[in-house]
Amino acid sequence: MNLSLDGKTAIVTGAGRGGRGIGAAIALALATAGADVVITARTSIADAEAVADAVNALGRKGYALTCDVADAASVETMVKKSHELLGRVDILINNAGITKDGLLLRMDESAWDAVLDTNLKGTFLCSRAVAKIMLKQKAGRIINITSIMGQIGNPGQANYSASKAGMIGFTRTVARELGSRGITVNAVAPGFIATQMTDDMSETARAEILKKVPLARLGTPEDVGAAVTFLASDAASYITGQVLTVDGGMTV
Ligand code: NDP
Repeated sequence: MNLSLDGKTAIVTGAGRGGRGIGAAIALALATAGADVVITARTSIADAEAVADAVNALGRKGYALTCDVADAASVETMVKKSHELLGRVDILINNAGITKDGLLLRMDESAWDAVLDTNLKGTFLCSRAVAKIMLKQKAGRIINITSIMGQIGNPGQANYSASKAGMIGFTRTVARELGSRGITVNAVAPGFIATQMTDDMSETARAEILKKVPLARLGTPEDVGAAVTFLASDAASYITGQVLTVDGGMTV
């Protein structure tokens, strides 16, 4: 089985946050498998630069670029620059994502729009820009980081769950559109992953979550990085349009 990404290149969106986020773990997993990686952030560019340095320390090329995935011009500029830096773009990871939680009746339009614009429109804009390059290459991997909340829903997250469910429909459609051109499109749906957000939870809230997880632990960003690396590799070349759930069995 070939899990090597030697000679491959990748863009990971939203991989700032000081190496604690899922995007940073994905970037490092891809680099460990052999890929050169462009890491993007919207505001936390110093953190993205730290991740790029960590990629360099692994002996691969790492670059940090600023990009607002919800802004078409910003995405086009980032993808053009990435193409120049990397020479080709084999892998796109649509990881940038935000939450703005609130119960339906209290959710204002700005919270709905911000989450849909970043999570769903951002995935569309980045995929469209990179697909142009991948079509010419006649090869590529697009991997969208969705969430189990897009599959099962979660009170207080109508905007987030809708955006993540939308990403699954987008994944299936684009997989059908691009399959004949050697491009696979898949999604990874993490469950509860130990990040800053879960660090801030009370012990009681954490215990309640763990009761629902057959594997009895929170996931790690590295668990997600491993799933993404598999889907990006030659070992997954006959898999497209799928959602790989990484949730310790929470949704079985
Ligand atoms: P973080 O909040 O730690 O990181 C999110 C990243 O997205 C940051 O680097 C942020 O950059 C970037 N970002 C936000 N808005 C934009 C934008 N408009 N343009 C470009 N970049 C942007 O998130 P996580 O690591 O927790 O999550 C990563 C992904 O995994 C998300 O898609 C999330 O929905 C998904 N996920 C997370 C789970 C979890 O348990 N943490 C569970 C399931 C799914 P900046 O700081 O510069 O704004």
